[in-house]
Amino acid sequence: MVGNTLTDSMKAHLTVDMEGIAGIAHEDQTEAKDADFARARKLMTDEVRAAIEGAKAGGAKEVVVCDAHDTGRNILFEELDSDVVVIEGTPYDLGMMAGISEEFDASFQIGYHAMRDTHAGTIGHTYTYAFAKLRLNGVLLGESGLSAAIAGHFGVPVVMVSGDLHAVKQAQALMPKIVGVPTKEGIGLYGVKTLNPRKACEDIRSGAEEAMRRVGEMKPYVVDAPVTMEVDFTRTIMAQRCAQMPMVERTDDKSVKYQAKDVVDAFRVFDAMSMICSAARGEGLL
Ligand SMILES: [Zn+2]
Repeated sequence: MVGNTLTDSMKAHLTVDMEGIAGIAHEDQTEAKDADFARARKLMTDEVRAAIEGAKAGGAKEVVVCDAHDTGRNILFEELDSDVVVIEGTPYDLGMMAGISEEFDASFQIGYHAMRDTHAGTIGHTYTYAFAKLRLNGVLLGESGLSAAIAGHFGVPVVMVSGDLHAVKQAQALMPKIVGVPTKEGIGLYGVKTLNPRKACEDIRSGAEEAMRRVGEMKPYVVDAPVTMEVDFTRTIMAQRCAQMPMVERTDDKSVKYQAKDVVDAFRVFDAMSMICSAARGEGLL
């Protein structure tokens, strides 16, 4: 079904990041090579399970989870209900929103963090190290806003965001009706005042149930087409490299602009910019 009309076959999509999970204070906890990674992925899995329980209690009959952090190989999916579908690894399209389509009724953002350069947001960043700022039609967006815009393209409303309080506030500034579940408060780039993980899971479970029940009130975050995408990079060479793409215009030393036909078109070019910057780093140029 399309949109957010209540039916008895509601489908929920969960996009899950790691930097906004309760207890995570530093990116050195969040990659497979890190000593703390086994613990971090367990904390992430527990929050996902709590969100699924809540979404199902609120009426979701089908749940698809997109493991949206780093390599996409973090969630211990054997610990989730057997009917939950998990998108694992690095899908070629739609990034953190892989799997979303018009068939879904609700989008949940779990473990989300603030955008780059947010006052006191823990591990605040926007997609990768390469990006300083992203604007769609003049509106500054972090990962939450970008994921919401992709969901909105398919007519799907975000119903809940959990994670860093700063991320929750940024999401609510765009989508005032969503259920916000802060599981911690960033008090510095690598500082956090966090809930106990068990309490975070309780809050996520009850928040997800409420969010699913209220899906009829939620509106998709729609970015009107055509979409003007403006990107500020962290290094000049990134703008040089990315402006080699046809239709991408250099607007300043570290900035480019792209006129997209819609949000998905904008995202694909943004994602390609991310890969160009990673490749340039691989060549030792950045
Ligand atoms: Zn992230």
